[in-house]
Amino acid sequence: IAFPYGRSAQWAFFKAMGIENGEIIMPAYTCSVVAHAITLSGNTPRFIDIDLYDYNMNLDSTELAINKNTRAIIATHTFGYPQDIDRLELMVKQAEKRFGHKIWLINDCCHAFGAEWNGKLIGSSGDVSIYAFNISKMITSIFGGMLTFHDKDLANKVRKWRDENFVKAG
Ligand SMILES: *Cc1c(COP(=O)(O)O)cnc(C)c1O
Repeated sequence: IAFPYGRSAQWAFFKAMGIENGEIIMPAYTCSVVAHAITLSGNTPRFIDIDLYDYNMNLDSTELAINKNTRAIIATHTFGYPQDIDRLELMVKQAEKRFGHKIWLINDCCHAFGAEWNGKLIGSSGDVSIYAFNISKMITSIFGGMLTFHDKDLANKVRKWRDENFVKAG
C-alpha cells in the first residue's frame, strides 16, 4: 500500500488499526520521524537503547520493556543489519499470552530492502513492514513510502482507511 512518506505509512497503520493511548517500543537510535508518527497517532514511544555491533535495539531490554500498555514493537534493521526476527516473534507471542491482547510486530525495513535473517527475508516476517523511498534510501522515488502485509484482509483495511483519509494532490 503506497503512501507519501514512510512516516505517513507508519502513522496510517496506527490510525487504521485503532492503535492509540498505548506504548510503542522502538529503538532510541533511528530516524526521528518514527517517534513523531507515534506521538501524532496518540501513542507514546518507549525508547530502547541499541547495541553497538549492529546499531539495533537490544532485545533483552526490549523484552523487559514489554508491559500491559505495549501495543506494538517497531524493529528497525539499521543499515541493513537484521534483528533476530525469530526471537522477536517468540517474545511477542509470549507477551500476547501474558497480557491477553494483540501486540503488533512492525518491521521498519527502510534500510533493509532484501535483508535476511536465517535465510528468511526480513520483510516477510511480523505483521507489517514499512519502507521509505526518499532521496537517502536504496530505492528512491524522491519521496514515498509503502506498507507490505502477508494478511490480505489487513492490507485491505489499511488501504480503505488511506483512501478515506488521504487527499490526492492536484
Ligand atoms: C527514512 C526512514 C524512515 C522514514 O521515512 P520518510 O519517508 O522520510 O518518512 C523511517 N525509518 C527509517 C529507519 C528510515 O531510514
